[in-house]
Amino acid sequence: MVEVLRSGWITSGPRTTKFEQQFCEYAGAAHALAVNSCTAGLHLALAALGIGRGDEVITTPLTFCATVNVILETGATPVLADIGSDFNLDPAAAARLITPRTRAILPVHMAGLACDMNALWRLAGDHGLKVVEDAAHAAGTTYQGRGLGSGQSDAVAFSFYATKNLTTGEGGMVTTPSAKLEERMRVLCLHGISRDAWDRYAEKGNWYYEVIDRGYKYNMSDIAAAMGLAQLKRLDGMNARRTEIARRYNAALGEMPEVETPPERADCRHAWHLYILRLNLERLAIDRARFFDEMKRRGIGCSVHFIPIPLHPYYRKTLELRDPCTRALAEYPRLLSLPLHSKMTDEEVERVIEAVRDIVVRNSLRQTVAFAGLEAASAVEAGD
Ligand SMILES: *Cc1c(COP(=O)(O)O)cnc(C)c1O
Repeated sequence: MVEVLRSGWITSGPRTTKFEQQFCEYAGAAHALAVNSCTAGLHLALAALGIGRGDEVITTPLTFCATVNVILETGATPVLADIGSDFNLDPAAAARLITPRTRAILPVHMAGLACDMNALWRLAGDHGLKVVEDAAHAAGTTYQGRGLGSGQSDAVAFSFYATKNLTTGEGGMVTTPSAKLEERMRVLCLHGISRDAWDRYAEKGNWYYEVIDRGYKYNMSDIAAAMGLAQLKRLDGMNARRTEIARRYNAALGEMPEVETPPERADCRHAWHLYILRLNLERLAIDRARFFDEMKRRGIGCSVHFIPIPLHPYYRKTLELRDPCTRALAEYPRLLSLPLHSKMTDEEVERVIEAVRDIVVRNSLRQTVAFAGLEAASAVEAGD
């Protein structure tokens, strides 16, 4: 990054191009366009595919609001199809919602676990639909041995936001197998101008340019790309550490009937962006809010991914729910994301496990009676 600053060329330029090339190689993608966020990448892909007013795009209710907002931004209507047991868009639920207006499917690889892409691609093929993947959680995820971005989808958008597996502070990448779509996204990415600033001012010394469409301002800077190049080298290592931590959580918490460990699939290398523990509330005397507070009281910050789209006031007012999204809404009250990042020490991981165990044991309905007895016994031993 310091080299970039000293070079005198700080916006999109040689580093951005290099980052795009290296990301292509990493993901096994044919083309990649670096952008300033995943949100921008998703919007760009939908816009470049010509999706707009009167069209419907099927997506999941269990996602970040950006997934739905980009559909709205094009003028199209988001149609929510419920999640399956893998917490991703259920292909069968999506199939039930297809109408003559449906133009695209926008699946999200929740927490870094790949969707059942074969089923979604088959569905898209049968109905002539576009597929744009939200891979915000999934830098490093593989599906059936291949990187996301190397498959049949029209476009795949990755996020390099501060909290994501690979970060450029703010940033994203959108990959596509189509040279034509890449070209169209490049034009829309930079004001609708037919060539980028590098071509205009650097090598060719040509001042002339043309605006050929109404575009956006979504390009990545070379400062961010320099960070991305360094992060990309470390991505597999960082993801391996995330995986190690997830395995440790699974081993320690998997035996407790009061909680459920996250879904996995054999044909996917999980990026473990998130570790979403599910509370079996019928076995606990406390709800998720109390569990969250108890973790906080022990100095451990948790989160919830996500508040389902239909529960937000704006979407409640504006979106018609054709699928009641029963599973997503039923799962929501029991979701609790545990801390997970590549720099966590083993001690920190153990502290999280101990806190979960302690809260579970103290609040398990199964063990309430036995534990009350145990507490009384230890109080006697301690002499108080
Ligand atoms: C973070 C996130 C986004 C948005 O990514 P940005 O790079 O911040 O635009 C989109 N979808 C999901 C599921 C996310 O978690």
